[in-house]
Amino acid sequence: MQPSEIPYLLYSDDKGNIFEDTSLLAIGRSGTRQEILSASDFIELPEGSDFFHLPGRRAIGFDPKTNNFRECEKGWAVAAFVAPAYTLTHHAAWNTEPNAPRLPLYAYAAIGWINDKFYTTAFRIDPDIRQDCNQFNQFYVEKNAKRMLKANPANRLLKHLSHCALVYFCPAARNYFMNRWEAPLPTSPSCNSRCVGCISYQPKDHWITSTQNRITFIPTPEEIAEIAVEHLNTAPNPVVSFGQGCEGEPLLVWETLRDAIKLIRTKTHKGIINLNTNASKPEAIEELCKAGLQSIRVSMNSVQEQHYLKYYNPTNYTFADLMESMRIAKKYKIWISINYFVFPGYTDEAGEVAALKKLISEFDISMIQWRNFNIDPEWYSEIVPLPADTHPIGIKNLVDQIQKEFPKLYHGYFNPGEEIINRYLK
Ligand code: SF4
Repeated sequence: MQPSEIPYLLYSDDKGNIFEDTSLLAIGRSGTRQEILSASDFIELPEGSDFFHLPGRRAIGFDPKTNNFRECEKGWAVAAFVAPAYTLTHHAAWNTEPNAPRLPLYAYAAIGWINDKFYTTAFRIDPDIRQDCNQFNQFYVEKNAKRMLKANPANRLLKHLSHCALVYFCPAARNYFMNRWEAPLPTSPSCNSRCVGCISYQPKDHWITSTQNRITFIPTPEEIAEIAVEHLNTAPNPVVSFGQGCEGEPLLVWETLRDAIKLIRTKTHKGIINLNTNASKPEAIEELCKAGLQSIRVSMNSVQEQHYLKYYNPTNYTFADLMESMRIAKKYKIWISINYFVFPGYTDEAGEVAALKKLISEFDISMIQWRNFNIDPEWYSEIVPLPADTHPIGIKNLVDQIQKEFPKLYHGYFNPGEEIINRYLK
């Protein structure tokens, strides 16, 4: 629901208690620009979203009396970490004080308050309910995990996934233990990228911690197949996905994936086998397609080589390798998603938009997953400076434009199951 008028700005005290400042209206940030918003830019804060109080940062709002932007001196800035399936359109706006700590790896959306409700700047991009927080009952996740571990104590991957579901509350691992939808198959302890905002490994000099730790072993094809076959055979709309937040790059252990896929497909033909990847090894992608891989999701902060390289810091591959991997995937007619890290001011900047349209046309991409970029916006702007004459067109406007120009392209947030893939790929 949209608010009837522009919400008031929020601020917090040192304890994280949140208050509205009725002298200031909430505004948004796109890149380095502050933007006055209208009521239609906001939606009610979706259930499952988190609030962040931003230490060392003063919120900026719009003062309708003076018609100016003004800093709120009453407390600290507040932002929303919007629930999965929603794409943010504006970051919160603030001034950062000297020596303020770097913000952890989350996405910081603008947020406001009006008529006793919280509102944020986002829109639902995926109708799929698989990660809606009202879908989870941790009691059953725990009960099923204990029962499955007792029945199969030798499977190390099962033990790893139970840790993900019970400690990190990973929605994919919890769906596995609820026997439904998409299940994770992490396999790789190492990576050949050095993403600045890596969620599974952060060097000390970045002054932030990774949101989860990497798997420490390579499961056997048998351990993987044991989990995947059961899930594909019994879960509704089943997908099993290599390439999770708790591992490095799965292509570094592609032979294990190949043997696991072959083993799985000797036992069941149900569901979708997907690979979330940095697509750095085209020759490995070819072998996995031959083995029966049906879908790949290529992660990118930008579809422009210069921006990609500054963030991914590849150790032994090139941007051209990603393109070649997508070319091969197309040759085998499998589903290709772009896991597109949405950053207002960058993703909708003219140069990026033109490059995105070129990529969609050239590789006949199947889907764009418009996922919020989990990184401190000011840190990212230091690493990947915005071009001087940037003219962002707005994230919502960008998605609408792409939908119009590429009607066959699917839009969402999650790896689709058989029904959607068969409908779009035929
Ligand atoms: S590709 Fe994934 S695992 Fe590798 S550095 Fe980047 S975020 Fe981390």
